[in-house]
Amino acid sequence: SDPSNSSDNQPSSLRNADLHWRDDGQPVANQFDDTYFSVDDGLNETRHVFLRHNDLPQRFAAPDCPKNFRIIETGFGTGLNFLATWQAFAEHGQGYLHFTSVEKFPLTKQQLTRALALWPELAPLTERLLQQYPMLEPGAHHLHWPEHNVRLTLIFDDVAEALPQLQGPVHAWYLDGFAPAKNPQMWSNELFQHIRWLSHPGTTLATFTAAGFVKRALRGAGFRVKKVAGFGRKRDMLCAQFDYSCGPERPLLSRLKPWQRPPNAVPNSQHIVVVGAGLAGCSSARALAERGYRVTLIDGAGIAQAASGNPQGGLYIKLAAGDNAVHSDFYRSAFVAALSSVKRVLGSADNNPHWRQCGVLQLAYSEQEDKRQRSFIQRQCPSAELLYPVDAQQASALAGIALTTGGLFFPAAGWVNPVAYCHALAQHSNIVFQQRTVTALSHQPHGWRVSTEESEIECDQLVIATAHDAKSLLPDAYLPVKAIRGQLSYLEAGSVPSPSTVLCARSYMPPAYDGKVCLGASYNLNDNDPKLREQDHQSNVSHLQDFAIDASTARVSGGRVGFRCSTPDYLPMAGPVVDTQAFLQRFAPMVKNAKHVPTTDMPYLKGLWLNIGHGSRGLASAALCAELLAAQLDSDGLPTTNTVAEALSPSRFLLRDMVRRKISADA
Ligand code: SAM
Repeated sequence: SDPSNSSDNQPSSLRNADLHWRDDGQPVANQFDDTYFSVDDGLNETRHVFLRHNDLPQRFAAPDCPKNFRIIETGFGTGLNFLATWQAFAEHGQGYLHFTSVEKFPLTKQQLTRALALWPELAPLTERLLQQYPMLEPGAHHLHWPEHNVRLTLIFDDVAEALPQLQGPVHAWYLDGFAPAKNPQMWSNELFQHIRWLSHPGTTLATFTAAGFVKRALRGAGFRVKKVAGFGRKRDMLCAQFDYSCGPERPLLSRLKPWQRPPNAVPNSQHIVVVGAGLAGCSSARALAERGYRVTLIDGAGIAQAASGNPQGGLYIKLAAGDNAVHSDFYRSAFVAALSSVKRVLGSADNNPHWRQCGVLQLAYSEQEDKRQRSFIQRQCPSAELLYPVDAQQASALAGIALTTGGLFFPAAGWVNPVAYCHALAQHSNIVFQQRTVTALSHQPHGWRVSTEESEIECDQLVIATAHDAKSLLPDAYLPVKAIRGQLSYLEAGSVPSPSTVLCARSYMPPAYDGKVCLGASYNLNDNDPKLREQDHQSNVSHLQDFAIDASTARVSGGRVGFRCSTPDYLPMAGPVVDTQAFLQRFAPMVKNAKHVPTTDMPYLKGLWLNIGHGSRGLASAALCAELLAAQLDSDGLPTTNTVAEALSPSRFLLRDMVRRKISADA
């Protein structure tokens, strides 16, 4: 049987909801002995408590409604509050809705399906939510329904851990979670402290409870609080509005470090140029276009002609077995975002010519890799929806090839044709593609000028997504990235067996496609040779032995050379670009004492952004990096935790190397 269907195979760090069903079909949480919503009429309770008392949907329709309306909820539960809000927004909203919800004990997809079947009125939205509902892995998962301009960042974590990981703006709070008497751990002083930090004048809050200590804690956190009539049998509830003049002290200054804070918005931005039309550039262009920006996407070679031009790429992640938590946090979230993007843009994987969710098998091809995989499973306890270990026999059944080793199987992973995906990403009414070679970039008083051989293009903001070529376009930026040559070999279909799942060992090999089997890619450091080499084909073919395939029949019919852009910590660089010299001067005190963080703002180059350094994992990492960059540019709440955003920040190497005294300001 497929262990990914088993709900008792859970990651140790995340526990599923433990619930039972009443005769009337309502879910009840065993641990808290409480219902998820009013047993009388949950949908109308949501509308009364959370919508009406946050003055929604009226605020959605008001002329002064912020472009990105942000709601944070504690306790996603069955998603009823989210769906009712989405329904109201779809009817009344004009801009974009970003709903962030935190859930410590997520329902499985089956439980969610059963609970939401209670609300036929919400069925069309329920179906959309279920299509994207993420695997039960800890962390922030970003989902998006552009047809309604609705985003959901669903964080599987404890509220106490998740709230310090979020940034504003927050326009409305839904303070849910089970009753304070049944779940006192959640209703802590820290909860109210974090609500205070994330709120600003005009932020509203509603909660079903009228408990006296909640009322007092909200007052202490700077809210004007009102007790109002509750829903159904509940006599009272609370609603509140943040006000600087309330509370014992004024709100504290930002608790975020300067490089964690997003840059100031560039007002009246409409037109954005994205340079580089590979996975990073096309994903960035799409994310910005979906936020209503007019985007000119430029590439001298055309769409997906460089490293993103391979016929097939594996859409999967390789997680670190060690303690590098942020690395795994990023890739888990990125994988969910990538799957969601590929499904949206290329359509369902069934019989799709451009991608298949055939799974990826990471083989334990050496003793060292076997040890790494075992230690990984033991330490990280991933959910079977993400990956599970298989022995040689199970691996052979999955691959349709008699393999001699087992490994890790990623059931939701597969392969994607990156060229088709990039073209599909760029197909948007707000995106215009121009095939031009950029020769220079210049910062203007009101934006940026992009010079090409044929013309000059003016824009309000600029995104550079040209992998290692960013170094020549931005000579003053500190970009310690390396180009690593990779040669892929094409084997004639039929000359070797075609696996039914993507195989990965020293090389990767997806199922045959378009008359050939791809095998590769080589990994050549300090090598900028763009031509195909026979010796690299031979080396790729020799790796067939990892798949127990007889190499003697393999016929190489061609291949392709690409250059991965790799960073020192193997994470991409996505975010705003800093003025190197101004940074080194302003943050110089940190050289003597790294803990002495100046309170000053980062000297960002206004309107300049970067999305590079995806190594050989662009299929998995580009979508989330693009969403992060677009959220920062658009002054929206982030789709990732603060820790992940910081780990991707393009200025991290400058900061690190300045503190290590490897670089200093020009005299
Ligand atoms: N808003 C939900 C809906 O629309 O279905 C109902 C929420 S239910 C009343 C409360 C939720 O809070 C449960 O799903 C529970 O697992 C979650 N929860 C309880 N304590 C939590 C904590 N400390 N951190 C995060 N979630 C928590």
